[in-house]
Amino acid sequence: MSEQINSAIRWARNRIEACSDSARLDAELLLAHCLDKPRSYLYSHPEESLNPVCWQQYQRLVERRLQPTPIAYLLGTREFYSLVFATREQVLVPRPETELLVDLALQLLPPEQSMRVCDLGTGTGIIAITLKSERPMAQVYATDVDPACLVLAQENALRHAADVEWIESDWYRGLPRTLRFDLIVSNPPYIAADHPFLDQGDLPAEPRLALTPGNTGLEALQQIIEGAQRHLVSGGYLILEHGYDQQTPVADMLATHGFSEIHCEYDLNDLPRTSIAKRVEKAKSTA
Ligand code: GLN
Repeated sequence: MSEQINSAIRWARNRIEACSDSARLDAELLLAHCLDKPRSYLYSHPEESLNPVCWQQYQRLVERRLQPTPIAYLLGTREFYSLVFATREQVLVPRPETELLVDLALQLLPPEQSMRVCDLGTGTGIIAITLKSERPMAQVYATDVDPACLVLAQENALRHAADVEWIESDWYRGLPRTLRFDLIVSNPPYIAADHPFLDQGDLPAEPRLALTPGNTGLEALQQIIEGAQRHLVSGGYLILEHGYDQQTPVADMLATHGFSEIHCEYDLNDLPRTSIAKRVEKAKSTA
């Protein structure tokens, strides 16, 4: 007997519940993917029989979901800021909370001006590509230390016809020393290496390099804040995504490195998530 759409979803949901809070949605997304149909098709054709090839493919995907493999890797795409991005294992899955960083950056980029922006540690390229799509006049640069990320980011840029300058670089190290930006943005790794969170949910399937920078979780943020001194114009801004418990240490680091107008914005879960600060030129002593 062949499997029907509704019974296949029920079977998958029961299995996926072991590893996901959104088992029903996951089950539907995977089946719609196998059928190459929108999710609404599942509701309008609940009793349609799956052909054996599709049923087998579905079972394989559900087994991979249980490993766990994030849905974004299984589907090969993830939506961010209303654009669809290709996703791949070895590259961090885009998170909805990062849309806050994009909103804040857009507020600082007037549409008619050619501001120079850099996205450090771009991963899939979501931040750089979204900014370029929303602000075509901006000159957007993006770095990543991992060449595999830059390959994927460039595929995504092609998909959205976004002209971004991609640079392989460990934070600022690969950038020309004289290159200065009006705005630097980053969603760096910020989870402490011994944080139990790293073993939960889908995180074990994602690249460690993109999640944790070291023992304190602050190492990458520290390097980015230090280097921003050299690479921001006076009056330029830095926007950083960070952990919900890092608002105070990030503000302290920013203040120590001569930033002003430091403030933190809260994400959709009402957690302090993204800090903004302005670089001010140190006043020259006249004494
Ligand atoms: N916000 C992500 C998470 O909590 C972490 C992303 C990152 O380290 N930049 O899963």
